[in-house]
Amino acid sequence: MSAPADTPPVSPRADVALMEGYHSPQLDVAVRLNTNESPVAPPAAFVTALQAEVAKVEWHRYPDRRAWELRTRIGELHGVGPEQVFAANGSNEVLQTVCLTYGGAGRTAAVFEPTYALHSHISRLTGTTVVTGDRTDDFALDAAEVDRVLAEARPDITFLCSPNNPTGLVEEPELVRHVVATAPGLVVVDEAYGQFAPWSALELLGPDVPLVVTRTFSKTWSMAAARLGYLVGPAWLVAELEKVVLPYHLDALKQAAGRLALDYRPEMEARVASLVEERGRLVAALTDLDVDVWPSGANFVLFRPRQRAGNDVWQALVDRSVLIRNCASWPGLEGCLRVTLGTPAEDDRFLEALQEALS
Ligand SMILES: *Cc1c(COP(=O)(O)O)cnc(C)c1O
Repeated sequence: MSAPADTPPVSPRADVALMEGYHSPQLDVAVRLNTNESPVAPPAAFVTALQAEVAKVEWHRYPDRRAWELRTRIGELHGVGPEQVFAANGSNEVLQTVCLTYGGAGRTAAVFEPTYALHSHISRLTGTTVVTGDRTDDFALDAAEVDRVLAEARPDITFLCSPNNPTGLVEEPELVRHVVATAPGLVVVDEAYGQFAPWSALELLGPDVPLVVTRTFSKTWSMAAARLGYLVGPAWLVAELEKVVLPYHLDALKQAAGRLALDYRPEMEARVASLVEERGRLVAALTDLDVDVWPSGANFVLFRPRQRAGNDVWQALVDRSVLIRNCASWPGLEGCLRVTLGTPAEDDRFLEALQEALS
């Protein structure tokens, strides 16, 4: 019946055949600090309210195709109307829809590495050519390099990420302003960790500005399981995205979950504040160890062991049932590891294991 595994009967697109896919190993460990989720669940009252909502769903009907109420509520967060909000299944689907709409065959997207791997991956998946600029040794954007890439490649899409994953650095407002002013195409600022940062590119939005800012419920809203993200941008751009995304892409329960989550904004902000405090404690503790540490404006911290290979330290942590992100072999991040902020107890276990791993 089945063809031998080494000779599949059909071939994927040639470029897909050469791709590696996106990997983030999920091992069975006691302390999971590898995917930048919130260490705590959303409020119990949210879960109760959502349970009541399940009973109200008309399961035999398609959901509200435009997700209008959800988009209205999200818009209220940012002082814009629903026509300026595009929501999808995680901000990754938001990015994919942007690439399908403004990228694609014959078009180009620019990224500045190291940055979030999905920006180039989703670009390529959608047939978009990727051009790459470098960051400085401190992982900052460099104005001259930005100008070079924008002038040479004339990208249709320019991706920025602030705070940048996996470095944690917040992009400089002046540089982002410069990119928005000079980029020939659309600028996407990925703010998956925006609430942790001291400033937001949301303030640069305008009806005639080809800029979108993406956000997600996965990190600060403690709702990675829900798969819900959105962007805020000009209404004319959101209208184009609506043409491209599949009909009824947001199911009824997800729309309800997103709406209800927004009733608990103070609780979200309290979680963010306590994580920011925990970040200070973790960075201080790392600074006392034999590692280089980068300043973070997010809920994770990038560091590099000075004496031992990053790979070995990562494995030693796994052996102690602590999982963090191994960036040691990523271009520009040689030897680096990224740890997500957990609960104080989880972070203590990580620090203890790291101390052992380094000695
Ligand atoms: C986690 C992350 C996302 C993914 O968000 P989803 O909404 O879960 O798809 C997007 N961008 C960056 C930079 C991230 O770190």
